Parts: sequence; C-alpha cells; structure tokens
Amino acid sequence: MLDQVLATGFPFGGAEQRDLQDNRIAYMPSKLGDDRVPGNVGLTARRLSTILRGAAVRAGAQIRYATTVTDLAESPDDVIVMFSDGGSRRYDVVAAFDGVSSAMRRRLFGDAYEPVFMGAGCGASKCRERNPLLISWAIKEIASRPDSSQWPMT
Ligand SMILES: Cc1cc2nc3c(=O)[nH]c(=O)nc-3n(C[C@H](O)[C@H](O)[C@H](O)COP(=O)(O)OP(=O)(O)OC[C@H]3O[C@@H](n4cnc5c(N)ncnc54)[C@H](O)[C@@H]3O)c2cc1C
Repeated sequence: MLDQVLATGFPFGGAEQRDLQDNRIAYMPSKLGDDRVPGNVGLTARRLSTILRGAAVRAGAQIRYATTVTDLAESPDDVIVMFSDGGSRRYDVVAAFDGVSSAMRRRLFGDAYEPVFMGAGCGASKCRERNPLLISWAIKEIASRPDSSQWPMT
C-alpha cells in the first residue's frame, strides 16, 4: 500500500500555518518517518479509502456496505453475527473498527470507555481559492476558546 500512497500523494515533513498575507507564522515539524517511510503523506480521504479497500479485497476480504451488526451470539467455538439487512453469518473472530463512537464498544463495555474531550484541535489546509471571511472567522473562533493553546512561533 505504501507504494500506492506515495504514487498518489505527496510526502511532507511537517505542517505550517500562514496568515492571510501568506507569511509563515508557525511551523510544526512532525519528527516522524525515516529513509524508507516519510513522516507524512498528503492525499485525499477518498483516495486513501480506495487504496485501503483495494488492499482489503486483494487480501480476500468481502466488503458489505449499508449494513450493520444488530446482534451477536457467542459460543466457545465461534460467534454468529446478525446483520441489519436480515442476514447472519458465523465467524471465528469479530473485530470492530467503528470509530470513536463505537457502537460495539458500548455494547461490550457500556460507558466504561467513553472518549473524553482533551482540548481544542486545529488544522490548516492550503486551498486553491482563499475565503478570507471563513478563515478569519475560524481563527477568531478557535482563539476565543478557553482551552485553545498557541502553537510555537518560529
Ligand atoms: C475533520 C477531520 C480531519 C482529519 N484529518 C486527518 C488527517 O489529515 N490525517 C490523519 O491522519 N487523520 C486525520 N483525522 C483523523 C482520522 O480521520 C481518524 O483518526 C481516523 O479516521 C480514525 O480511524 P478509525 O478507523 O478508528 O475510525 P473511522 O475512520 O471513524 O471509521 C469508523 C467506520 O465505522 C463505521 N461505523 C460506525 N458505526 C458503525 C456501526 N454501528 N456499524 C457499521 N459501521 C459503523 C463508520 O461509518 C466509519 O466508516 C481527521 C479527522 C477529522 C474528523
């Protein structure tokens, strides 16, 4: 997958923030990566999804869309999974990767591992067309939050 990611995206070593006059106001080196693997690669989520889904299918996965798990029945040997489209299937293992609000986590552990908000995060992207009104609103909005912290100025 790395070859595909590198062919599609562009590697970079850190992130910078610029003001409306295009002056650099902050630079955050990522300090990740090595000679073989860059610390960061920029590509769209859609392209990354295409690469990941292609690799999964090549590895033998069957991808089913627009359905979810409605029930599980475990036995010592396997687990039967019931799906919202009415189907069911027997598996050796069920692994859930359903994100930060995971329904499977809540099903298995209740509210024991609920995510906790740790503070504000902020990212900046270089757009083909600038929208000064939107950008200045976003900067003011983020800066006004009591839990926002200033990035190091370089
Ligand atoms: C606006 C934004 C920008 C980001 N930008 C970056 C970035 O530039 N670089 C970076 O590295 N990270 C970025 N991230 C973080 C990154 O997207 C997440 O860390 C990553 O997607 C988490 O992956 P995940 O597989 O845990 O969950 P997710 O990507 O959230 O995947 C969970 C999947 O489970 C599905 N799902 C949920 N509930 C169910 C259910 N009950 N049944 C069936 N399916 C279900 C969802 O539809 C989803 O497809 C960004 C996040 C956001 C919100």
